[in-house]
Amino acid sequence: MPSLDIRELEYRSGDFALHVDLGLEAGEYGLIVGPSGSGKSTLLRLVAGLLEASSGSIELGGRELRGLAPEERRVGLVFQDYALFPHLSARGNIEYGLKLAGLGRSERRKASQALGSAFHIGELLDRLPSALSGGEQQRVALARSLAAKPDLLLLDEPLSSLDPSLRRELRAEIKERVTDAGVMALQVSHDLEEALAMADRLFVMDAGRIVEAGRPENIWERPRTAFAARLVGRGPVLQVEAFESLGTVLLARTAEGAFPLGIGSREGSRKGPLSLLLPSDRLEPIKAGTVPASGEHILQGQVLGSSYAGATRKIGLQGKGGRFEVSVGAEHCPQAGETMAFRLTGAGAILLEGA
Ligand code: ADP
Repeated sequence: MPSLDIRELEYRSGDFALHVDLGLEAGEYGLIVGPSGSGKSTLLRLVAGLLEASSGSIELGGRELRGLAPEERRVGLVFQDYALFPHLSARGNIEYGLKLAGLGRSERRKASQALGSAFHIGELLDRLPSALSGGEQQRVALARSLAAKPDLLLLDEPLSSLDPSLRRELRAEIKERVTDAGVMALQVSHDLEEALAMADRLFVMDAGRIVEAGRPENIWERPRTAFAARLVGRGPVLQVEAFESLGTVLLARTAEGAFPLGIGSREGSRKGPLSLLLPSDRLEPIKAGTVPASGEHILQGQVLGSSYAGATRKIGLQGKGGRFEVSVGAEHCPQAGETMAFRLTGAGAILLEGA
């Protein structure tokens, strides 16, 4: 099975510059997340061959893709807007590439039937795209892209025009079908929940660069950069102003107070701006005004508002140095204007690179 190795890939368009290194192992499902305009779609287009990079390499299973025409790359591309041929039935769409590849009618039928039933559209194959719902059209587009048996499937926000319940259903299905087919995938998403749920490997993109890559649970547990920590939203990210030692404990001073660094968080470069993540799951709400016992560290702020998120509630707070957000159990229901305090428990804070 092939693997994907993108090295020092460069592309420039106007003010935008992309410089990317990215590796995906055989059979892995990769997710790229990042703010709008960070270059996620541009990267997919470079890999698909719709844009040409100025330097660097894109190796897929040891084959260099740069210089190859899109149809020679064995790379499939699925867009948000399905891009089906309107005059062809669902079956005609799924079989299109197979027909071009010279497959006979019965083989094509067999393939479209198998993919149709795998994507739960087996009964709809004679319909034109205009007679299918958005979710059904996207299923046809996915079946079409897998029919061609690509080595790599690129998906650009494939679920973003579908409603939330359908998105959840289809994201599990896509991953299952793609993995079953033994195809590697690289998907762009702006939905972090979707990215964490689907990714074997997560890539965080900012201003044309991959700033962090790893297994989603590792990026959640131990983000390296302030940018990734803010994006995954595990808790307040505060700028570090200075370090202080208190006996054997190393504290990082922020506008909201000084907090102890967790184990494994003390090493590494202290060059450039640094930040501190206080994971919400290590912040225990306590009565405001409680005098901290020796060795206790308190984060405090004035409640700006809150939003209910099922088992948890997200509280927006105003601190001394700015705003931050803490997730608490949904049983906490503070009023705006109230002061809320939290005790940093257990494993301490996580030191991050960047402001
Ligand atoms: P993302 O997918 O992360 O939102 P894009 O790859 O679409 O980011 O965009 C990267 C940069 O390229 C942005 O600065 C964007 O403004 C620019 N860009 C995207 N599409 C075009 C286009 N068709 N023409 C000119 N600039 C574009």
